[in-house]
Amino acid sequence: MNLLATALPTAADIGPHRGKLRSLCTDCGISRTADPGRCGAACQFIAPDYPGLERRVHGRTIDPTAPDEAFFGPMETMLRARLAVPADGAQWTGITTAIAAALLRSGQVEAVLAMKADPDDRWKPEPVLVTDPEDLAQCRGMRMGYAPSLALLEPARAAGITKLAVVAIPCQVHALRVLEKSLGFEDLFVIGTPCSDNTTTENFHEFLDLLSDRPDTITYLEFRADYHVELRFTDGSSRLIPFLQLPISKLKPDFFPLTCRTCVDYTNRLADITVGYMGGSGDQWLIVRNQRGRAMLDLIGEQLAIKPLESRGKRKGPVAGFKANTERAAGGLPLRAMPDWARPLAGWLMPKIGPKGLEFARARVEMKAVETVLHLRAMLPARMKHMVPDHVWELAAPYGLTPQSGERLTSKHPSGEQQARAGGPSAWPAE
Ligand SMILES: Cc1cc2nc3c(=O)[nH]c(=O)nc-3n(C[C@H](O)[C@H](O)[C@H](O)COP(=O)(O)OP(=O)(O)OC[C@H]3O[C@@H](n4cnc5c(N)ncnc54)[C@H](O)[C@@H]3O)c2cc1C
Ligand code: SF4
Ligand code: SF4
Repeated sequence: MNLLATALPTAADIGPHRGKLRSLCTDCGISRTADPGRCGAACQFIAPDYPGLERRVHGRTIDPTAPDEAFFGPMETMLRARLAVPADGAQWTGITTAIAAALLRSGQVEAVLAMKADPDDRWKPEPVLVTDPEDLAQCRGMRMGYAPSLALLEPARAAGITKLAVVAIPCQVHALRVLEKSLGFEDLFVIGTPCSDNTTTENFHEFLDLLSDRPDTITYLEFRADYHVELRFTDGSSRLIPFLQLPISKLKPDFFPLTCRTCVDYTNRLADITVGYMGGSGDQWLIVRNQRGRAMLDLIGEQLAIKPLESRGKRKGPVAGFKANTERAAGGLPLRAMPDWARPLAGWLMPKIGPKGLEFARARVEMKAVETVLHLRAMLPARMKHMVPDHVWELAAPYGLTPQSGERLTSKHPSGEQQARAGGPSAWPAE
């Protein structure tokens, strides 16, 4: 792999954690930089200011007359698309890495910061700076876990990179956007993916062990919009498991770290373009957020097959049911296990009656908001007033979850930029 064969940094150059790490840290990399104190301003899990950052990045915050922006954040447009010729090894069809490669080919960026697989574990993410568009093939596919990608920003600048593209999940993009101005790049392109239910790579291996008696041969896993998990194996075979038949009740209670259960940005609102699948009805789902995102998509326009977005079914019932289960889990009670005889039936029924397309995406975003409020209320109530942004409260409100005393800030929030200029809060708030 000819990744930055010249003097550019690699994952081996990433230093140790030096910040005041707390339970909610996902190790985005800022604590490993020259000034780990910037975590106080940059971290998504302290006092995020989404409206302030959205205004700076997109020129505006959400438009109340555009109903889907309340769910998915500011946008110019949404698309359902796929690469007409899907890329080998891609998580879906490879739109993410195709855009990144096109940016390199067009000379608009000198490097792309993305994740490849750890050489010893295909599921473990390892941050990497890529300069050869062909090498992006090795970043295709989803890894489960956290890796300190933003720790490579300073070394990239030191090596002379001035135009950079970053592929990242929402908690990484939040920190990147807060610090963007101080990083010294002339041009920064941000390709985001949605993210939910991440966990450590070690935990993820336990999940694979429950799914198959040959877990080492699983090469691909995805939670599809048709309510199935798809597994692929080294011998080329694949298997679909209905969500309702997953061994979720066998996972340890902290399988999903509290951070990912309380994450406040599912759809990567601060990216220039978000590339996911949830609203794509089996294709990919793109949220073009600003002019820069549109220009990036135009670079691969001829490679795309586009279909109309669809939206069917009703989300209210499934989200309310999810809330009831989450209340039990957040209160320490076991999730109600479905009787074995009912599982195949429910698994068969769900794709037929459940919400589809954009309605599925709205359901998932609402579920995430419900989960955030319930878990923070149970585990870290003192953090709520700073950590839960208005957009999360608005998504949770139809399900009877409104701020209780002390859970929502009433005074005006300092913008992310102001915080960064001021050096940010000096320490993590008490947990
Ligand atoms: C942990 C996780 C959870 C996700 N959950 C959802 C979801 O709930 N709904 C949804 O619509 N989409 C989700 N996605 C995004 C989705 O799985 C696809 O990555 C996305 O649709 C892009 O597909 P693609 O074929 O264009 O990507 P590809 O062209 O195959 O590229 C994949 C990109 O993902 C990046 N990547 C891989 N693993 C990680 C990681 N651990 N951390 C950061 N970046 C990584 C790589 O840098 C690469 O550039 C999630 C992604 C991750 C990493
Ligand atoms: S900004 Fe937050 S997630 Fe990133 S390293 Fe610092 S504490 Fe961890
Ligand atoms: S779910 Fe949220 S906190 Fe967890 S890795 Fe994804 S973006 Fe970060």
